Amino acid sequence: MSDKILSLIYGFSQKYTDHKTNLEFDPKNNNVSAIVKDGHVNISLVINNNNDQKYNEISSLLKQDIQGIPDVLSVNVILTSEKSESKSDSRFTIDTKHIIAVASGKGGVGKSTFAINLAVALKSIGMKVGLLDADIYGPSVPRMMGISGRPQANENKKLIPLESYGVRCMSIGFLVSNDTPTIWRGPMVMKALEQMFNGVEWGKLDYLIIDLPPGTGDAQLTLAQNSKLSGSIIISTPQDVALIDARKGINMFKRVNVEVLGLVENMSYFICDNCNEKHYIFSKDGARNEAEKFQIPFLGSIPIDKKLRVQSDEGKPCCIDEPDGEMSKRYISIAKNLNQSLSV
Ligand code: ADP
Repeated sequence: MSDKILSLIYGFSQKYTDHKTNLEFDPKNNNVSAIVKDGHVNISLVINNNNDQKYNEISSLLKQDIQGIPDVLSVNVILTSEKSESKSDSRFTIDTKHIIAVASGKGGVGKSTFAINLAVALKSIGMKVGLLDADIYGPSVPRMMGISGRPQANENKKLIPLESYGVRCMSIGFLVSNDTPTIWRGPMVMKALEQMFNGVEWGKLDYLIIDLPPGTGDAQLTLAQNSKLSGSIIISTPQDVALIDARKGINMFKRVNVEVLGLVENMSYFICDNCNEKHYIFSKDGARNEAEKFQIPFLGSIPIDKKLRVQSDEGKPCCIDEPDGEMSKRYISIAKNLNQSLSV
């Protein structure tokens, strides 16, 4: 019975979305879920604060419909809300035209590599760029950008970002020692992020690129609620195990009203030195198809490239080391497209 009820609930919810409310109300976005046990139905709806009256109406309509199904003994509808702060409420201030959060569901998919290369690519097309490494679990921007020093404070007690390849860089790694195991709790994440915005002399920027920690935790929510994010870019490898988590990231950003600017597929394939053929090691076109399903832009794919790994390890991003190389062209094309769509 529960399968039948669940499919009816989903059918009803879509009906209300389309014909009665015009609200986004879609199980695919995880804003409706239901548990059915022994004829008792518990439905949970994640609502947008601004529309709570409409949702109350839906809730009673939904309840009536489900009560009409044979064998249903009781129906309980719970409305929960995700607080969506108005963008003008932002507490983290910085003088920049755009703030872009680079995110991934899983670690190790190439999020930091993308963030630094995007920052350098934007710089190479003439933008003033800041790079904020907020990856509390493994800050890698200093190493990948070839930075060895530590930022100094100016007369206003603000930290001066360290500039590398023309990009102003600040890392959470500068605030904690590399070897100290750090357990990050919500308020600590909030404090550290606030310090990296308000406590840093960023100057005037066109873009601030943020390398987020993987997953959907405190750093993502803190930034969504306290800074004027222009949007997020999600990095994923093409295989299902990474895409499942990438999906959670997309849904989380949608719920907190942060636009997903696009999905990038990393480690799309590997071209073998011997046979010169493409090998789709982590499956083919997974992220491209996912972008289509979610109707978000697909920003491009980056193959597995040994040189890219070496350049990251040596602190020389590809757009610096080999500005005319194939990899640089891909990053620069993504940077140009992004810049164009954001200027519109
Ligand atoms: P994340 O930030 O998602 O944890 P990283 O950017 O740190 O991932 O990348 C993990 C490792 O994979 C690094 O050693 C990086 O150099 C390497 N890497 C990332 N993308 C590629 C790629 N397209 N080709 C080869 N190596 C890559």
